Amino acid sequence: MRILHVASEIFPLVKTGGLADVVGSLPPALARRGLDVRVLLPGLPEVLDGVVDARLVTRIGPIFGAASVTLCAGRLPDSGLPAYLIDAPFLFRRKGNPYTGPDGHDWDDNHRRFGLLGWTAAHLAAGELDPDWTPDVVHAHDWHAGLTPAYVVQSPGLDMPTVFTVHNLAFRGIFPMDYHADLDLPMRRMTPRGMEFHGKLSFMKAGLVYSNKITTVSPNYAREICTPEFGCGLDGVMRDRAGDLSGILNGVDYAVWNPAEARIAKTYSVDDLAGKKICKRALQLEFGLSSEARGPLFAVVSRLTSQKGMDILLAALPELLQEDAQLIVLGTGDGDLEAGFRYAASVNPERVAVCIGYDESMSHRFMAGADILLVPSRFEPCGLTQLYALRYGTLPLVRRVGGLADTVIDVNEENLAAGRATGFVFGEAARHALGARIRDACGFYRNGGEAWTQVQERGMRQDFSWDDSAANYERLYLGLREQKTEERPE
Ligand code: ADP
Repeated sequence: MRILHVASEIFPLVKTGGLADVVGSLPPALARRGLDVRVLLPGLPEVLDGVVDARLVTRIGPIFGAASVTLCAGRLPDSGLPAYLIDAPFLFRRKGNPYTGPDGHDWDDNHRRFGLLGWTAAHLAAGELDPDWTPDVVHAHDWHAGLTPAYVVQSPGLDMPTVFTVHNLAFRGIFPMDYHADLDLPMRRMTPRGMEFHGKLSFMKAGLVYSNKITTVSPNYAREICTPEFGCGLDGVMRDRAGDLSGILNGVDYAVWNPAEARIAKTYSVDDLAGKKICKRALQLEFGLSSEARGPLFAVVSRLTSQKGMDILLAALPELLQEDAQLIVLGTGDGDLEAGFRYAASVNPERVAVCIGYDESMSHRFMAGADILLVPSRFEPCGLTQLYALRYGTLPLVRRVGGLADTVIDVNEENLAAGRATGFVFGEAARHALGARIRDACGFYRNGGEAWTQVQERGMRQDFSWDDSAANYERLYLGLREQKTEERPE
């Protein structure tokens, strides 16, 4: 079965978050199951530099405001999987973040940049761009690839099944409605039953409405997005399409996230945790934190945004400090949250440290050196860092929401007695709830001894590899291929 994945970022070439991790590891997991998988990516500088053996497939010509657009093909650096690249210098050869300019604002031609991604996917699917390869199923990821199913539907005679995966419904890819002409999308689809969203055009909604199947990245988030609380105004669409919606939990690439092999102060494994203590001391030294604290070392590796509950954490910081615990933060995001953490570090230099930035190798040192990873998100489609923490013997402390609720089992009496607890879970997105759970976690750390080690070891043995999830996607593709194309809205 031939599958085309369409996405804007991919680890290790371009990464701003979990989407890149998934696009970097799901296609190889499917290929290991025997599927013929290819990836279509925008030709961002890091992608053009990173793909090996690139060759020209075809010249597409001037389109979407770009004088020159060509389709190239090469292989991805680690997995060796085939990748198609859209080389449109005017649109994509821009340094920095794939979505925003140096001023931090979205590029003002993002509709064309990501419209071209969906357009190319549909024309590749139609067999118009590469005579040697056409997919059986096209799988588009998040709003950046959201127009893919819309272009497939409007391609004459094309009966191509599409899957659309929602990695984060909050980013809906919204543009002025009159951009539809620029994108070669017919006015008759700019309706509430089509891709119109409150008088605007939404790439995310296009993906939801015109795909055959919708998936999201955890079973719990699939339920949540059908409710007004988590549906970002699209919960009605989600409910309409509930029969085609499923949640498939993201996996972890344990070749990348493995404390026995990562570049950390001392490697370790579930059979010998001695190296973890050395990693903790090294991290404390790196950031000038005292080694005398009686409480645990908490860590954050995250976008610093209100989605991630970072404002709640700042508010609960006094509780953490009262327990003689420490906090290290690695992240970038909202200016006021960055400033808040910087200030907290400046007044508690031995107990709070902050690194504002994005640093892949440092994220492994944080996972290895910390005792507890904090993920107090307001909403969380899947969340990957708590899964990485589990493998690194770092207990996650998470809010009971989205994929966090699916993956962390609370340290309470019942779960401890049943031998299944893996971390700390709290409910309300509020300072007092987080603060109380931080205090509980500190108490468990101080009294922990053997109990702490047991929870650690259980977490390290959890298997969130891609095997099961890739099998679920394969089942979905098979079902689609067999099923006759359903009626899709006009
Ligand atoms: P999201 O995609 O919503 O940001 P996820 O938990 O799904 O959240 O994925 C976040 C990914 O980005 C993880 O791989 C995490 O390690 C990484 N990450 C987040 N912030 C940073 C940072 N400042 N430096 C390095 N890696 C980071």
